[in-house]
Amino acid sequence: MDLADDAPVEGWVLPEAAYIHVPFCRHRCGYCNFSVIANRDDLIEKFLKAITQELNALKRPRLKTLFFGGGTPTHLPNPALARLLESLDQQFNLSELTEFSVEANPEDISEAKLELLASKGVNRISLGVQSFQTTKLLSLERGHTRDQAIAAVELASQYIPNVSIDLIFAAPSESLKQWEQDVITAIQLPISHLSTYALTYEKGTQFWNQRLHGDMKELDESVEIDMYNFTRQSCNQHGFRHYEVSNFAKNGSRCLHNMAYWKGEGWYAAGPGAARFVNGVREVNHRSTSTYLKRINEGQSPVAEREAIGVVQYAKERTAFGIRLIDGIDLRALSQHVGFDTYKLLKAPIKFSLDDGLLVQEGDHLRLSDRGILFADTVAQRFLDC
Ligand code: SF4
Repeated sequence: MDLADDAPVEGWVLPEAAYIHVPFCRHRCGYCNFSVIANRDDLIEKFLKAITQELNALKRPRLKTLFFGGGTPTHLPNPALARLLESLDQQFNLSELTEFSVEANPEDISEAKLELLASKGVNRISLGVQSFQTTKLLSLERGHTRDQAIAAVELASQYIPNVSIDLIFAAPSESLKQWEQDVITAIQLPISHLSTYALTYEKGTQFWNQRLHGDMKELDESVEIDMYNFTRQSCNQHGFRHYEVSNFAKNGSRCLHNMAYWKGEGWYAAGPGAARFVNGVREVNHRSTSTYLKRINEGQSPVAEREAIGVVQYAKERTAFGIRLIDGIDLRALSQHVGFDTYKLLKAPIKFSLDDGLLVQEGDHLRLSDRGILFADTVAQRFLDC
């Protein structure tokens, strides 16, 4: 195949994953760059109507995984959440799902909320804990305390079999010792999955502006690396296998839905700002909740961007995302999928990353080296840019 010809990938199978975006939050945290709307609960009713309309167009696909993210899905009052779960059940037959994940805020956790989620088949909950230290939580503008976070994790584990928590490291002026305490607290709780993310300063956020004006300072990169290495070591010692750059799981508890993203499989999506990948076409809905609602209400498409991904682009993206998996990627399988020799396309970035010790190659198999795991974004960018 001539690599200049970025033809469509042949033979896509229909997605078995779907993502639903609920944009509501109590407050917009200073570091948050997601499609979120705060203090507009008056729009919940319109949102329920719009998302049901968007979901109706999908015509009941058969799914293995459903991920309910945001925003904060658990911010919905229980009657509204029950109605949304009911429409999801009509669309997707929730009892057939292998994994049904819901993102939750510790502030929203109550027995009634958990009972409702569990009754509709939610078997994985991802709690936005971020830290177990009240001062760090305040600096991140989170509304919960250490005790609330711990109580939420413990209560959730009584209703939902797979509890995951998110933690943020490298918060302003955080010490290595403080971070170690966060990790140690997390792995002693009844969780089976842990996601850890370094704080990032995204353009357009309040933290970005504060850093720009010198009111907030990024942590030294060497401390950030020490924090990450401590996380890897502790998780490994406590039975949490490192399976993706930011994710650790006990046996059988990997997030199957996110695996579909990293493996380049397709997924449906609905809600403001939601991105989908179906039959080789990527679409992104309007990010603004009010624009999304207005367009659906007026019978227009909520899609803001649409791009058909050709074989060459797909091979680059599949490698860039797949390399984040600690097990790495198999170039022979990828070549069979896209119908050409991907090694030829990716030769330059592979050689570059092998030469500087960020990649390891065993036959057709590529994975990040121990040092490469620290620079996964750099390696991924090289694949995208080639
Ligand atoms: S709770 Fe999560 S989604 Fe909502 S504003 Fe904060 S970081 Fe963003």
